[in-house]
Amino acid sequence: MEFRQDIVRRDETGTNPAQLIDPFQRAITYLRVSVTDRCDFRCVYCMSENMTFLPKRDLLTLEELDRMCSAFVEKGVRKLRITGGEPLVRRNIMWLFESLSRHLDSGTLEELTVTTNGSQLSRFASQLAACGVKRINVSLDTLNRDKFKAITRWGDFNKVMHGIDEALAAGLQVKINAVALKGVNEDELDDMILFAHGRGMDLTLIETMPLGDIDGDRTDQYLPLSMVRADLSQRWTLNDIPYKTGGPARYVEILETGGRLGFITPMTHNFCESCNRVRLTCTGTLYMCLGQDDAADLRAPLRASESNDLLHAAITEAISRKPKGHDFVIDRRTNRPSVTRHMSVTGG
Ligand code: SAM
Ligand code: SF4
Repeated sequence: MEFRQDIVRRDETGTNPAQLIDPFQRAITYLRVSVTDRCDFRCVYCMSENMTFLPKRDLLTLEELDRMCSAFVEKGVRKLRITGGEPLVRRNIMWLFESLSRHLDSGTLEELTVTTNGSQLSRFASQLAACGVKRINVSLDTLNRDKFKAITRWGDFNKVMHGIDEALAAGLQVKINAVALKGVNEDELDDMILFAHGRGMDLTLIETMPLGDIDGDRTDQYLPLSMVRADLSQRWTLNDIPYKTGGPARYVEILETGGRLGFITPMTHNFCESCNRVRLTCTGTLYMCLGQDDAADLRAPLRASESNDLLHAAITEAISRKPKGHDFVIDRRTNRPSVTRHMSVTGG
């Protein structure tokens, strides 16, 4: 795997130099935080229907999550994404957004954002905007109500649509994330492009990853995006563009709509060489890679002292162990998850 040198030690503003440099000279400037492992949906590729969730007492408090995030910001993290499980079902979650917005005000943080299934957006969209959130990701895999029910098991399609409308009305830039699912939504992608681009939203397609046990067989769901792109390009003019959002998506602009379409291809095109992120769970475990099991416990150093010295040292030590990349495999012979924890635990 080739490692690009030009992504190293990036510090766009000079106000908060990147201090977390991993063994492969990648600057870690992006933290994704799962604030709960719980969710009001049970998407088929993400969870089994009967999940056992963590006892609430094991979760970091919102104050502790704030302290964790702030410690990373002090170490040069420039982008925070709040995720889950479903982050907007965590009780009093707006307190965390409000509190973290102080780092946006001071200029030490560039972006505070969220990934959500959209179910609670009509309640929270304007509050998110008031906290300085500018862009959000909404996960939506289909525009067909029956399919939506089949994919999410418990989701309410109308609520999500209403949530998206409220988010746009609040002035948030919305990106729709759709997991490409063989035989489920592959025939709908044209409609999804028209839906998203018609409302000024980007659309990003994601390949399913082998994370956690689910009820079905992942080989039945997996749809390589190289095939999707080849198919789309028969009907749409896809022009590669250098647009980047700090995430792993590669974007094209669709000439006919003028909108952007992203591809996240952890399976067919591994993008680990430019990885700038780490993931914190709601119990304070830091995963240095979504696709590897190695982790660091940050809860113990957080709770051990009121000063952040121990925590900062633990963060630095964890980053020194960030692996080169993941090795996801989905095929009939490897019919087990590459990592046993669900995406909702590590934070998608
Ligand atoms: N509940 C929120 C949501 O759905 O947006 C945030 C957490 S969810 C785990 C984040 C993203 O991970 C979603 O876009 C979801 O589609 C995606 N996801 C979950 N499991 C996945 C898997 N096995 N492979 C690829 N994407 C997955
Ligand atoms: Fe919940 Fe998001 Fe997982 Fe769906 S993808 S079950 S909405 S955490």
